Amino acid sequence: MTIQEKIQKPLTPPEYQVTFGEFIGIGPNGNLWVDGCDVADLANRYGTPLYIISENQLRQNYRAFRDAFRAHYPDVEILFANKSNNGLAIRHIMNSEGAGGDCFGAQEMYMALLAGTNGRTLVLNGSNKQTEELELAIANGLCVNIDAMDELDRIDEVARRLGVVAEIGIRLKLDLEPLTGRMGVAMHGPGTLKQQSDSTKWGMTREQTAEIVKRAQAMPSVRLKETHFHLSRMSNDPADFAVMAREMITWSGYLRDHTGWIPPCIDIGGGWTFGKWYGTGPNSQMDDQNAPTAEDYARLCCAAIKDEAAKLGLPLPKLRLEPGRALSGPAGVAVGRVGAIKEGATRKWVNMDLSTNHLSWAAVLDWYYHAVPVVDAAAEPTEMVDLVGPLCNSDEVGKHRRMPALARGDLVAFLDTGGYTESSAARYNAQLLPATVLVTGSHAEVTTEREQLKDAIGRFRVPAHLLAASFAPQD
Ligand SMILES: *Cc1c(COP(=O)(O)O)cnc(C)c1O
Repeated sequence: MTIQEKIQKPLTPPEYQVTFGEFIGIGPNGNLWVDGCDVADLANRYGTPLYIISENQLRQNYRAFRDAFRAHYPDVEILFANKSNNGLAIRHIMNSEGAGGDCFGAQEMYMALLAGTNGRTLVLNGSNKQTEELELAIANGLCVNIDAMDELDRIDEVARRLGVVAEIGIRLKLDLEPLTGRMGVAMHGPGTLKQQSDSTKWGMTREQTAEIVKRAQAMPSVRLKETHFHLSRMSNDPADFAVMAREMITWSGYLRDHTGWIPPCIDIGGGWTFGKWYGTGPNSQMDDQNAPTAEDYARLCCAAIKDEAAKLGLPLPKLRLEPGRALSGPAGVAVGRVGAIKEGATRKWVNMDLSTNHLSWAAVLDWYYHAVPVVDAAAEPTEMVDLVGPLCNSDEVGKHRRMPALARGDLVAFLDTGGYTESSAARYNAQLLPATVLVTGSHAEVTTEREQLKDAIGRFRVPAHLLAASFAPQD
């Protein structure tokens, strides 16, 4: 047990009329509440569009994952995928839970370090790491997961220059033969799970991995720490994850036989889903209460790891995993305010100030976010509407939604939007990025300031010859 865990308070969810999550539901006045705060109050106080994150829900989601895996495995570390929500406050919450993290790029790593995260609990992933990135990672003790043949030499050079020992992992290109006939959730294009996995830029072959290990063994400034794989969002079936986890161990057997090195740690990445009774996730294959839980994943993956290790006579490695959306997703709500309402011959459009800039997965991945009215949240739906944003494209945030009659000024909330919303928000049509409010019990506080016009235009420059020309008198 870590120091953080010893001082952790147990989480006590409020009582709701209808529960959307432990800390999100319909409160005593019939409105949508996040923990102890009425979402209508928050929207009036902080403006819209608004992201709201529940601190306690985030902690709850983390602990559910941690405890599920710990119940099935002796040595587990949970690394939060920082990219799913880069907020500094989010990282501080994860630190206080004792969670590590997965970083991509110098900025994400810098932000995690700025939040005080111990570099030893962070990994740096990436397919084309810059020298600046390697320096920042190695100087701060991060494990660098190698994903290119020339990366080892570059790491060795930096480590020797800094006079430290660099910890490394290797990202694998698993064979995944058992997934040859398996279809995924079609978020990664057509093809079977194996074809999808094979077609990504990620991972090193067996021969390449063995070569990197052999060369690293001869480098005093480099310490081999783990193998890594990330199945991504290709599948929501925990059995597919168990195939992947087993193959990590098969690969360890190959490395033992070819190099003598047995990975003391395997990092099985992210891609873990979550489901809700009202449905969320990829529109074509929505996750509901039948979606796997952390417990399902843990039971199947840990059994596969133990079984394969026993077969091959390998010691059980430390197990790391990198959940992102499963932790951050259900911790957040996005709120927009209704403006113009238009009725067509066959449709009704409800315009909001919240757009696919703010929920980009709705546009890019055809993601379904459940929408509820904020006031009188349990009101019976009476009509079918398209919830749209202000952008110049069709900007459908919620297509064909059954809602009660909405009027200008009403508030609509989209649930389970805590992951990949703020961190992938865009400024298309020169829209300003929303604020984020963190709710803790009945306390709310801004953790991301709303963007101002100066933030959006401040980077633009006009060359001298255009400055004068655009004001020249016309003939
Ligand atoms: C994106 C990513 C994750 C997190 O994925 P989720 O689907 O949010 O769980 C974890 N590890 C790596 C390497 C990733 O690229």
